[in-house]
Amino acid sequence: MARIVMKFGGTSVADLNRIHNVARHVKREVDAGHEVAVVVSAMSGKTNELVGWVENMPKVAGSNAPFYDAREYDAVVASGEQVTSGLLAIALQSMGINARSWQGWQLPIKTDNAHGAARILDIEGADIIRRMGEGQVAVVAGFQGLGPDNRLATLGRGGSDTSAVAIAAAVKADRCDIYTDVDGVYTTDPRIEPKARRLKKIAFEEMLEMASLGAKVLQVRSVELAMVHKVRTFVRSSFEDPDAPGMGDLLNPPGTLICDEDEIVEQEVVTGIAYAKDEAQISLRRLADRPGVSAAIFGPLAEAHINVDMIVQNISEDGSKTDMTFTVPSGDVNKALKVLSDNKEKIGYDVVQSEAGLVKVSVIGIGMRSHAGVAASAFRALADKGINIKAITTSEIKISILIDGPYAELAVRTLHSAYGLDKS
Ligand code: ADP
Ligand code: ASP
Ligand code: MG
Repeated sequence: MARIVMKFGGTSVADLNRIHNVARHVKREVDAGHEVAVVVSAMSGKTNELVGWVENMPKVAGSNAPFYDAREYDAVVASGEQVTSGLLAIALQSMGINARSWQGWQLPIKTDNAHGAARILDIEGADIIRRMGEGQVAVVAGFQGLGPDNRLATLGRGGSDTSAVAIAAAVKADRCDIYTDVDGVYTTDPRIEPKARRLKKIAFEEMLEMASLGAKVLQVRSVELAMVHKVRTFVRSSFEDPDAPGMGDLLNPPGTLICDEDEIVEQEVVTGIAYAKDEAQISLRRLADRPGVSAAIFGPLAEAHINVDMIVQNISEDGSKTDMTFTVPSGDVNKALKVLSDNKEKIGYDVVQSEAGLVKVSVIGIGMRSHAGVAASAFRALADKGINIKAITTSEIKISILIDGPYAELAVRTLHSAYGLDKS
């Protein structure tokens, strides 16, 4: 007997037939004698619709700033998961399974106060464990918890993955299965590159980079939690027949295992390619090259909660002036430009230029630590396709390259084949 947390994403619970199918997956594990807790997302598209309602509330005459109270945003957008958790509990009960739905505030899943992007602080696992011992299946609404202000708090988009891994850690589950619309983690997004291959295993560090750099198959925070708490996490498909051979395999279920790097025997140099759309570039021209200039730029941006990513600085020929270029999410460009113009005197730049709609493509692999020339191959491959590089950043296990938006798919495919990822 094992203890398993099963999480089902939005496409897996998109309608009543799919919820019925999810219930069959749960029944398989219950019938095998396992203790099971389930986490669900909202029906696919639902959270976007709810966010849209909040953001499109008609504005007060004379104001064009979108206004909403983050606590009420959470009250609205968390409702999608309330519906699916209840529906799945009903589907399970109709199959004779003792199931009960739980909202984040009922367990409770305690979070911090960052409404809209809250972090889980604590989950009391004892009660869920006791109920599991009595044969009850808890169906938990993902994406939500209870803040210190005693109000609903949501965990940021894609946050049900994090709910699932956090619950798995709290109840000391043997496994956390993330069921989605693909049958595992691929070498790149299979929607962009049909030749992408499914990985049998991927190291925590690599999955963390893939997720941070745009592969939305797992929320970044869920990978961090799985790594810290050593949760055995699998990504697998809910669209396969729940009773197909091997689906109930305890140690090697079909899918991708996220694990420690020493569990991976044959480590490739490059494991995967990720991409993030909607990046924007801002350049400050002819800054005085003096100590404190970076602090004068990035301090106020940080205070305005603007996430700055790639930073490139050029020194002019005589060394007295510098240009600073950096990227921010496209949605934050106007806010960033306002912060920069408010601080123009203090920063001391000549002109500011900006460009939105860019894409960051990244090459990821632990094997890069011990191999030279990985970045050079990426630059060569992109050059051969006439793709211009606007900025580059590297770390020990990744290279990120900023390019024009329309080249995103070509760049992903080009890099994918440049590292032989399409060949098994
Ligand atoms: P869910 O609703 O189940 O949480 P998501 O849409 O959040 O599902 O994540 C699954 C999607 O992630 C897939 O449909 C796929 O297009 C995308 N994806 C991006 N990169 C990868 C990758 N490397 N491997 C697998 N899927 C990926
Ligand atoms: N429903 C939420 C979202 O769409 C959470 C999730 O699906 O993980 O972001
Ligand atoms: Mg998701």
